[in-house]
Amino acid sequence: MPPCRRALGLLVVSTLLMLAMWSPSAQTPPYDLLLKNARIVDGTGGPSSSGDVAVRGDVIARIAPRIDGAAARTVDVAGHVLAPGFIDIHTHARRGIFDVPTADNYVRQGVTTLIEGPDGSSPIPLGEFLDRVAARGITPNFGSMVGQGSVRQAVIGLADRKPTPAELDQMRRLVRQGMEDGAFGLSSGLFYVPGTFTPTAEVIELAKVAGAMGGIYISHMRDEASQVVASVRETIEIGERGHLPTQVTHHKIIGKANWGKSVETLRMIDDARARGVDATIDQYPYTASSTGIGAALLPAWAQEGGRDSLMKRMQTPSARSEIRAETIRLLKEERGGGDPHNVQLARCSWDSSLDGRRLDEVTKGRGLTPTIENAADTALWIIEQGGCSGIFHAISEDDLQRILKHPQTMIASDGEVPIFGQAHPHPRSYGTNARVLGRYVRELKVMTLENAIYKMSAFPAKRLGLADRGILREGNKADIVVFDPATVRDTATFEQPHQYAEGVSIVVVNGQVVFENGKMTSARPGRVLYGPARKR
Ligand SMILES: [Zn+2]
Repeated sequence: MPPCRRALGLLVVSTLLMLAMWSPSAQTPPYDLLLKNARIVDGTGGPSSSGDVAVRGDVIARIAPRIDGAAARTVDVAGHVLAPGFIDIHTHARRGIFDVPTADNYVRQGVTTLIEGPDGSSPIPLGEFLDRVAARGITPNFGSMVGQGSVRQAVIGLADRKPTPAELDQMRRLVRQGMEDGAFGLSSGLFYVPGTFTPTAEVIELAKVAGAMGGIYISHMRDEASQVVASVRETIEIGERGHLPTQVTHHKIIGKANWGKSVETLRMIDDARARGVDATIDQYPYTASSTGIGAALLPAWAQEGGRDSLMKRMQTPSARSEIRAETIRLLKEERGGGDPHNVQLARCSWDSSLDGRRLDEVTKGRGLTPTIENAADTALWIIEQGGCSGIFHAISEDDLQRILKHPQTMIASDGEVPIFGQAHPHPRSYGTNARVLGRYVRELKVMTLENAIYKMSAFPAKRLGLADRGILREGNKADIVVFDPATVRDTATFEQPHQYAEGVSIVVVNGQVVFENGKMTSARPGRVLYGPARKR
């Protein structure tokens, strides 16, 4: 066939093809969802622009100043901000996700991806757990780290000793398996038992395994109080010698005597980056932390071997008085912030009437003057009853804002999926992202809206290696949040934590609307997301 005839033939064929494609489309519009008249903040940190966003299937099909194509559904978002769904790189969402698979507390703030397995704690084996999450059918996307503490516990229990070479090999194998199961990297909780018994060199050996497979290292550091500077140094060293990106998670400075040390810790992060270490930070925007009363107010040595061993020590008068002295110190200088009123009980499974109460009140309730010494006795009594999780008001607003503004800080909640109305969780589970957008962007102008959104979307996506999320771009997965920048705010407080964030109008996960008009929809489009080394 001569070239012109061939071209004509192609033209006919392509016209027929187009007709074939177009004739049914008389009924099927090109887009499933068209969001019009948005202030588009694309997640990269660049300036916003006005326009429309079209979704087809689970992807963003088109972004343009004006899109006139037909859509199954068109929504005029009336100038609200339209941004990539938020990615929360540090959550304890396995607490609650099976009971509340819709994760309303997160979705209502615009969070569309939850990353689990933080603080050195993850299910082992991870693959089985992720399969169960997938089978449950959840609203947001869900991924996980593999936890160094869980790996160590699986191999040598809660003992304070070094592993044998064979045991270390076994730990390497478990980290490798976690990565092959789909972890995004290795987390550690060197503050907790058994992470606290782990020498730096041992963490580095495991970090090397995760790093060689494309993973990152993320650490709840050994100490966030008097030794916070040394702990940041250790976190940087693990990244540097383990040859992988390293992250200080929920960075904070605990205890009045230590306030201001973020000047130095942030400088260390900058210096490390200047010499080529890929070190970053995440943070939640509150001046209180949350963890177990035992983890916060007992020395690590007392917890070696687990609860039975702890109870035995507490019944031995000499050990008990040593423990008590350390609890008094921790109340004075660290998570107690010098006043038992700073310690609040979050969840006490053995007596829910204590949920939300302050340690000074509980001490008074036992007929004692609320001195630090009596509060320490009350804390030990609480631990003997079965323990509680707690909230610790011992962080300064200055450190918080300094860390928040730092260019290497992303936003992460450290929260969980609460059952609405049950217990007394830290408000971070309900408010983290909305609080940054309302209080720190709109009210205090600590940073721009575009920068805050970058810290919640493109930045964590890049950290995790999620190439198709975190930025509004044609072809990326359609995880989207729409909110009113004039009204978005957190409403959960330390007194009344069970309150949803306000100001978010629409949330889309994988192309499906999951929240709209103040209500969760019935859609459960969340997927399990897998890290870079997954094998199946
Ligand atoms: Zn933590």
